[in-house]
Amino acid sequence: MKPDQQHIDNWLHARKAQRQYRNPAELLVGLQAGSRAALSAAITLIESENLQDQLLANTLLSDCKKVAKTAKRIGITGVPGVGKSTFIESFGLELIQKGLKIAVLAIDPSSSVSGGSILGDKTRMEQLSQEMAVFIRPSAAGKTLGGVAKNTREAILLCETAGYDVVIVETVGVGQSETVVHGMVDYFLLLMLAGAGDELQGMKRGIMELADTVIINKADGANEAAAKNARSQYESALHIFAQRPDAWRVPVLCASGLNGQGLPEIWQQIEKFFAHMETGGHLHTKRTQQEVQLFEQLIEETLRQQFLTDTTKQSQYLDLKSKLLQGELMAYEAMALLFH
Ligand code: GDP
Repeated sequence: MKPDQQHIDNWLHARKAQRQYRNPAELLVGLQAGSRAALSAAITLIESENLQDQLLANTLLSDCKKVAKTAKRIGITGVPGVGKSTFIESFGLELIQKGLKIAVLAIDPSSSVSGGSILGDKTRMEQLSQEMAVFIRPSAAGKTLGGVAKNTREAILLCETAGYDVVIVETVGVGQSETVVHGMVDYFLLLMLAGAGDELQGMKRGIMELADTVIINKADGANEAAAKNARSQYESALHIFAQRPDAWRVPVLCASGLNGQGLPEIWQQIEKFFAHMETGGHLHTKRTQQEVQLFEQLIEETLRQQFLTDTTKQSQYLDLKSKLLQGELMAYEAMALLFH
């Protein structure tokens, strides 16, 4: 199916479901019954910018908060071409064999913030999307990164209300999207390639520090030896990081999304991680800190938005900026005049 058609179909399903579930109470019943149509409609509702919809969404979300059982929230990132969708497809198929229900939310801030798209340019996870135990939502809408974060965070809660055991949030390892995803998941998986250059893959941008597990992907065929080599290099690189507050030691594993090698070990690591985080009370701390972080991010964005739409302030700002450029004022003086 062409991506455009996929988007149209998603939208049509959501519209149909919206007619079926006319209010938050009906949506909640649909979600609790595990209906994918209800989930789709509920996500469309929370993404809506219509004020009326937002009020309904808030009612729905607070009801969900009371009943939802939390899932394992897993973030997956890596540069385009590292094999994310192939990996999620194989990994997801493996998890549903264990009787788990999987939701995949793909965040592509490039599409909502700048209009282009990195994730949505091809048909992805075709086999996985046919499975009844799987829900895939291609891209979170939102004009700002904070907006994307808020919508995705809420979509996770909706998936949890609908009984999904694992919620995978996929993002592209470029720009700031991985930081956004890191701020809303429990466990963050970084996919890398052997020999692709650290700078390109984000070593220098500190993505390694966000990872809970590093995977050297495409460790198959002629690439296997290079992958093993890369694994030891990354293991040594990780040793230089200070011990984390949650005391988790980040493992580096080799895997192949294509032939499924290494995937069972990754699931074992995930279970080990959650056991570790739950015993230490670290998981609860992490989740509450993430809520505070999101709250602060949203305040910042709202204030910025208010500032940008305040015409009086904008003309004062331009006037002060030209004075700064002429050397007539210093920054702190301009600030005092703008926010006296
Ligand atoms: P994404 O852009 O990160 O989602 O990457 P894709 O999953 O679309 O994969 C990009 C390319 O790498 C495709 O041509 C895949 O067939 C190939 N690929 C993905 N995973 C593997 C793997 O584990 N081994 C090998 N050899 N190739 C892979």
